[in-house]
Amino acid sequence: MPQVLNPKTTHWEFSGLPGAIGITLGLPTLITFFALITNETYSLDGINLDITAVLSQLPSTPTEWFELCFNKACWTAYLVWFFGLVVLDFILPGKNMKGVALRDNTQLNYKINGLAMSGTLVVVLLARVYQSDNWFLPELQFIYDNQLQLTIVTTIFSFLLAVFVYVCSFIPLAKLNGSGNRERILSINGNTGNVIYDWFIGRELNPRIGTWDIKLFCELRPGLLLWFLINLSCIHNQYHTYGEVTDSLILLNALQAFYVFDGVLNEEGVLSMIDITTDGFGFMLSFGDLAWLPWSYSVQTRYVSLPEHKVNLGPVNIALIVGIKALGYYIFHSSNKQKSDFRQGKLDHLNLKSIKTQTGSKLLCDGWWGLSQHINYLGDWLIGWSWCLPTGFQTPLTYFYVIYFGTLLLHRQTRDEAKCKAKYGKQWEEYESKVPYKIIPYVY
Ligand code: NDP
Repeated sequence: MPQVLNPKTTHWEFSGLPGAIGITLGLPTLITFFALITNETYSLDGINLDITAVLSQLPSTPTEWFELCFNKACWTAYLVWFFGLVVLDFILPGKNMKGVALRDNTQLNYKINGLAMSGTLVVVLLARVYQSDNWFLPELQFIYDNQLQLTIVTTIFSFLLAVFVYVCSFIPLAKLNGSGNRERILSINGNTGNVIYDWFIGRELNPRIGTWDIKLFCELRPGLLLWFLINLSCIHNQYHTYGEVTDSLILLNALQAFYVFDGVLNEEGVLSMIDITTDGFGFMLSFGDLAWLPWSYSVQTRYVSLPEHKVNLGPVNIALIVGIKALGYYIFHSSNKQKSDFRQGKLDHLNLKSIKTQTGSKLLCDGWWGLSQHINYLGDWLIGWSWCLPTGFQTPLTYFYVIYFGTLLLHRQTRDEAKCKAKYGKQWEEYESKVPYKIIPYVY
């Protein structure tokens, strides 16, 4: 255990402050741009971008800007959505699980209720469909018709949430709940003392209100489930406006819904992910979870739902794409499970090859983990391809996801490598000599 509970951060990621500011300004601009080029007024044609037409959709006066950013109906809808899920998170039953050991040797309790939460959402949706006239759900149409406004609302909300958790990180825990002398645990990466950088990276590791964990909630609830609703809203709009639903749109909805519910239903797996164990909760995660994920991951669906971009795939293409998804999922799921089972001692009887480290934990270098250091990333990336291919080859825009996600995974791999090098020293070098490929076996 380090002598200082909350050491000062000396290593700045994302090229430090310029990177943090660049991402804070750049990514919200990018998702706003996505909303401006995938709608019924303007949709991107190949690579021919008519920037004047795109920008003409933006307000021209301060009053119009205010109305766009603080649209009453959209803010009300989003606040009801977010806090409605918070209430459900509190009242729905779930099992309690302990997170990984923290630097003060404590473990946080997490309530795992993804099944009850997703079940409730599906039941509510089915009930609304049952009550509806010709399957028309005004709430889905509302999402479709207000993509730009909602993109901005989720961005501003995530900004405010990051300010809230940053400010709270300075309030001693004992003052709030009188709980002895337990200190807040700060993120190893977000404790530089620079306000903007720490706000961006996340100063506190696990911000909570009482026992309610803000980071776990944001990771798997409002943004991920909103993505599912955005996708549904595209089908809804295509059906009610154009009287048809293309097979590519159904496929995209099905593949992405599978991913969403797989994530929500297997939420205990997230407890050992870097986001929960290592990253603080600041603007990077708040924006990533609440705004970036739903509005950038849904770009393909929004694009291909427009009449001028509709794609009918046919059974052969559908089978090929489902095959890529199944392969990706198999690699992703079974490799993550193998590592998790191995770490819990469930595979001891198999005598898999591994390296014992100075910290006591073992590095598996057999099975999936003998093929590459992050074979799970390869599976995830293949899944990403299955979300882009249904759009055909009309524009690079719908392949943005695999390029972005590939970059994210590469960056994650280098961060994780630095962490493991520092943690395991010589044993990590031994692991690298046994498993030389980083992500794709025999390639990289
Ligand atoms: P990993 O699941 O690969 O976990 C890395 C950690 O596992 C290391 O820090 C180390 O932790 C431990 N470890 C590394 N090598 C070994 C080994 N050989 N044997 C045993 N333990 C090992 O990384 P992530 O948390 O980044 O990713 C988890 C999953 O989430 C992946 O499938 C990834 O694709 C996915 N993901 C999805 C995203 C999305 O937006 N869709 C975003 C990011 C990730 P320790 O300190 O315990 O040794």
